[in-house]
Amino acid sequence: MIVISQCANPGCNAEFDHREGELFCFRKPPGADGRPANTHSVQHFWLCAQCARSYYLESTHTAVVLRSRFDREATSHRSQFIAVA
Ligand SMILES: [Zn+2]
Repeated sequence: MIVISQCANPGCNAEFDHREGELFCFRKPPGADGRPANTHSVQHFWLCAQCARSYYLESTHTAVVLRSRFDREATSHRSQFIAVA
């Protein structure tokens, strides 16, 4: 079951609406937290339509980060930490 309450952008608090925006599913690396790979190892995030135009989410080895679609040169500086992977 997907439980999302609002936009993943920390600076935005738009309420989740499956009819718009963009949904991201990130699978945690198996065994990263000692549990087998199953549905509990998948994280779901959502960006509202407005944020999805400017940002996307990316999963790294250690975290899920918010990145600008328009500033790829400086993503490492602009990315925002969203969640522990
Ligand atoms: Zn938003």
